[in-house]
Amino acid sequence: MQSLRFRLISWYALWLAVIFIATGIAIYWGLASYLERNLAASQEARCQRIARLLLSSSAWSEGGLAAAIRTDFAPEASGRYIRISQADGGVLYESGPPTDQSFVPARIPPPVLQAGSRRETLSDGTELVMTAVAAGAAEQPQYFIETGTSFGPVLRELHRLMLLLAGCALGVAMVALGGGLVLVRRALKPVEEITRLAEGITSRNLSDRLPVSPTGDELEHLTQALNRMIIRLDEAFQHNRRFLADASHELRTPLTILRGELEAMVRAEQLDADTREKIGSLLEEVERLAHLVENLFALSRLDAGLAQNKHQAFDLSKLVSATSEQMCLLAEDKKLQITCHAPEPVLVAGDRARVKQVIVNLLDNAIKYTPAKGRVKLFVFAREREAVCVVCDDGMGIPAEAIPHVFDRFFRVDAARNRDSGGAGIGLSIVKAICLAHGGRVEVESTQGQGSTFRVFFPLAQEQSNSVLT
Ligand code: ADP
Repeated sequence: MQSLRFRLISWYALWLAVIFIATGIAIYWGLASYLERNLAASQEARCQRIARLLLSSSAWSEGGLAAAIRTDFAPEASGRYIRISQADGGVLYESGPPTDQSFVPARIPPPVLQAGSRRETLSDGTELVMTAVAAGAAEQPQYFIETGTSFGPVLRELHRLMLLLAGCALGVAMVALGGGLVLVRRALKPVEEITRLAEGITSRNLSDRLPVSPTGDELEHLTQALNRMIIRLDEAFQHNRRFLADASHELRTPLTILRGELEAMVRAEQLDADTREKIGSLLEEVERLAHLVENLFALSRLDAGLAQNKHQAFDLSKLVSATSEQMCLLAEDKKLQITCHAPEPVLVAGDRARVKQVIVNLLDNAIKYTPAKGRVKLFVFAREREAVCVVCDDGMGIPAEAIPHVFDRFFRVDAARNRDSGGAGIGLSIVKAICLAHGGRVEVESTQGQGSTFRVFFPLAQEQSNSVLT
């Protein structure tokens, strides 16, 4: 109902209906009054002729006048009514019932004794057009001659014409509506196409542009305006990326120097215990900052599409098993049980170090957010054309409202819960960026208090996908 197509067609249909109805009414009234005026004019001429006949003799016997009128005007045979009245209202002559029975003379009201034309509706509903003419002296007419004809046949013809017009209007309206629908659909097709293409433009393909067809119409202007907007967005994104890359790059060196200096200071023998503790805590903060800067630098490189330069096929199962073994040490304090099920080799193509980073980040989170004596499981397997790596834990889980945001940069479910573990809300955004850069994806399922399951999907390396498919 809200669509432009529906609104255009309804307006079109409404205006067509209004125009047709107004034209029908105008034709009906115009034609009816024209025919009535015509009839009245011919009746008036007839009355004048009767008046001349009446005044041609000074004394008409009743039978003589009737015979003369019947001979000259034959009112009954021609379906007409003639009445001659005297000035005092006495009827001198009145024609009989017409042979076509179009009206009953007995139902016609008494004479009006006034010149002019009027429409008379008889008690049986018959419509009669009556015309009266005065005969004799202008100030004191001697006779009033009235002639009348049933308007019924004219009205019947008019009704038939109206039905014909309505039928034609309906036919024309159907054809016009069908044509309008086709036209509107054709006119709006490029809009749908532009919408579809614009939907496909995300922060990852801002260098793409919408195709502009040089039609010179509003759609060309719209496409150009959208393209200019995409250019501005692209510039803003690039500016942000450059800023992130430059800032993180510039921060790396001073932080390395700071770390080195602090490490050297903490090793100095002459320091008292209090100062050593303070420097140790400073060192921890610098480590945390350095880790964050490294992550930001990695993100900026991923954003700039620099992750895919080391493209090689490797076994994901082996990588996950080795990484989980290395990280078991981290879980020892909490007595977590980490198990890895990766029985079959699963070949993927990409940057091994970056894929390892994905596993490290997911496993690190699972360890961080699972309480002591909990369980963390890893699975690797191939499914259709994809390599799947699953990391699931029975830890604290993620609240439902936070799930859509966990892959956002700097998002932390509860800032307080991450203070001690040192997370800045960057780990999962790196996971997502690496997956996307490899043509893969990451999904999460989690229930608060019961645990979380992260699934990572990578396309299988070519040889493997062939062997899996065959
Ligand atoms: P951080 O470095 O703070 O851990 P991440 O981007 O890795 O940031 O994770 C974002 C948020 O998602 C974290 O703050 C954490 O609350 C939540 N989260 C991630 N993994 C898990 C998990 N396995 N169990 C529970 N919560 C998790």
